[in-house]
Amino acid sequence: MTAIERSSTVAVVGAGTMGQGIAQVALLAGHPVLIYDIDGDLARDGRDRVRERVERLVVKGRLGRAEADGAIGRIEAAHDLAALAGAGLVVEAVVEDAAVKRALFASLEEVVSPDALLATNTSSLSVTEIAAGLAHPGRFLGLHFFNPAPLLPLVEVVSGSATDPAAAESAYRTALSWGKTPVRCADTPGFIVNRIARPFYAEAFAVYEEQGADPATIDAVLRESGGFAMGPFALTDLIGQDVNEAVTRSVWESFFRSPKFTPSLAQRRLVQSGRLGRKSGQGWFPYGRSGPDAVEPLPHTAAPEKAPEKVTFVGDLGPAAALAELAREAGIEVGATEHGGPYVLLPGEGQLVLADGKTSVEFTDVVYFDLAFDYRDATRIALSVSADTSERTLAEAVGLFQKLGKKVSVIGDVPGMIVARTVAMLIDLAADAVARGVADARDIDTAMRLGVNYPAGPLAWHERLGQDWAYDLLHHLDQRCPGGRYAPSLALFRLGYAAGDEGQAG
Ligand code: NAD
Repeated sequence: MTAIERSSTVAVVGAGTMGQGIAQVALLAGHPVLIYDIDGDLARDGRDRVRERVERLVVKGRLGRAEADGAIGRIEAAHDLAALAGAGLVVEAVVEDAAVKRALFASLEEVVSPDALLATNTSSLSVTEIAAGLAHPGRFLGLHFFNPAPLLPLVEVVSGSATDPAAAESAYRTALSWGKTPVRCADTPGFIVNRIARPFYAEAFAVYEEQGADPATIDAVLRESGGFAMGPFALTDLIGQDVNEAVTRSVWESFFRSPKFTPSLAQRRLVQSGRLGRKSGQGWFPYGRSGPDAVEPLPHTAAPEKAPEKVTFVGDLGPAAALAELAREAGIEVGATEHGGPYVLLPGEGQLVLADGKTSVEFTDVVYFDLAFDYRDATRIALSVSADTSERTLAEAVGLFQKLGKKVSVIGDVPGMIVARTVAMLIDLAADAVARGVADARDIDTAMRLGVNYPAGPLAWHERLGQDWAYDLLHHLDQRCPGGRYAPSLALFRLGYAAGDEGQAG
């Protein structure tokens, strides 16, 4: 099935933030557009907002005058649902309430032709549930745009249990023809992005709750070492703690309270106290204050230490192997031995070990260091120490990374640290989603790069890190923090096994 015709009318129901954005996208793609809202004034306001935005594109030089005039003439506000009779596609963007959406689609079905496509922009409700009761549920699907819809390319095309594959294909091709990057996914809680992104928030909050590090440090490590555009604390302050927590709770409830998605008590308290983020002037961080408490919370950054003159790389450091070359380039003498390890042996006999899900208290004189997306580009590295770590070993580890041009954040004895455990959990959820037919690996990676701006898709990241890296880390973490949250999925086990690693089942 092909995309709907350019001449076919696209109707948008709900003239709020998303409705206006989606209407603009369809309009600029060349369709006649009708925008309807239960409140007629809002429908007319919505139409006017879209027209204003089209005008602004002309001022910015991004749209020609003639094209803009054409678009402005093609959008109208609909006075009632009956006006949508001729639509080839209806996209619903009303309040996030299943009962309201079901009632709306029941009324719409009485108006539109039986072969018109019907789509919901729901973020968290089940597409299958909204479709229940429709006379023709085969043409019903999810078209999940991201905010702001005119700017963000990703669209999740969600097939419910009753969706006809031809209808999903037509919607997919339509989104493609609108210049979007659609991905196909099944109707599961959170679809792709809101399902797989949960650990990005949850692990950061868990490290904080475990007294491992403060929010500013965790954010800085995920940005400067992990390659994420924003840290989870600042990002949830921007999204709104209530909004972010509602998504987490909805996914957790929908997965029958799976420990993989357990919400954060610290975030619960923020929401209860009204500290919702930027919009309330206070979330994890304070906003918009002047005076002494306006000071921006800074990440922990270690004081300068002397770099060791020589280090020895023992065994294969896997994802951190590039550190040997960086150390050489920084003028440090680098020895290597294949036997034992993997760790970096420091002059005082202390060991520097890549985060692996164990704790430093299990060893004498060990400093753990966190995963970096790219050790050359990283500007900060987290180190984790236990009470047994000697001052000399910590100083040598700090000095080593500082000599490589990195800032160093020293955190508590957190198994799996910050970036490593976050990335391992993202990989696990992504592998599990592929195995359960939620979406294919390519679409999952595309969705996570475009939907939440990750530096790499979790499955591509998995390839870079090695097939058993995430499994091993989670296996160790699961042994230390039992309860199922960190239990690696069968899918992750299978991926490692298929790659020929037989040692990981231990
Ligand atoms: P919004 O509150 O800005 O707009 C909703 C509009 O729907 C309002 O104008 C309201 O008057 C209208 N409305 C309510 N009931 C109606 C009915 N029965 N018939 C017609 N109009 C009705 O909401 P929004 O942020 O645009 O979200 C809309 C939908 O999009 C929700 O399902 C939401 O989950 C989803 N979504 C939101 C975002 C986001 O970031 N805001 C992102 C993706 C998806």
